[in-house]
Amino acid sequence: MSTRDCLLAEAAMVHASPEEIYSFIDTIGIDSDFPKLLTIAQEKSIPLKILSDGLDVYIKYLLEKANLSNLDFMANRAELVNNTIEITFDHTNKECKRCGICKGEVITEFKEKQNEPYQIVFIGDGYSDVCAAKEADILFAKKDLKEYCIDKGINFISYDNFNDIITELKQRDII
Ligand SMILES: [Zn+2]
Repeated sequence: MSTRDCLLAEAAMVHASPEEIYSFIDTIGIDSDFPKLLTIAQEKSIPLKILSDGLDVYIKYLLEKANLSNLDFMANRAELVNNTIEITFDHTNKECKRCGICKGEVITEFKEKQNEPYQIVFIGDGYSDVCAAKEADILFAKKDLKEYCIDKGINFISYDNFNDIITELKQRDII
């Protein structure tokens, strides 16, 4: 099942008011060390972007809540209409049929646009990250993505939280 089919099937099962949906989103938190990584990246002029194959509605809400609304992100578009969720897939993948937004293709396109070679650090935890895992120069993985990398023999650095990532990137002199 592609991500698009999966998201549409999931959205079709939602019967909840926007208030109910937002109060559910309120139960999701942002890693408390993530803003620290963002500050370091900004100080060092390292571009940092959130790539999600989920929905913009909760990412935008959570970033605003954490005072991080100026952070760039990509996600599928969702609108809360008539007690359900309507999803629009604005992004067109070149080749990948599996993903809604193919993070692997986004990374490749980013690299192609740069005048100098770029080292890509990718941080992920799920199946929507598998295309990106093959394109990243330094890959941090946990949960399903970690299992996938072990299974496929892809090099990765295991992490639990963003503090682990900051420590590792400092040790490697990347930040
Ligand atoms: Zn893909």
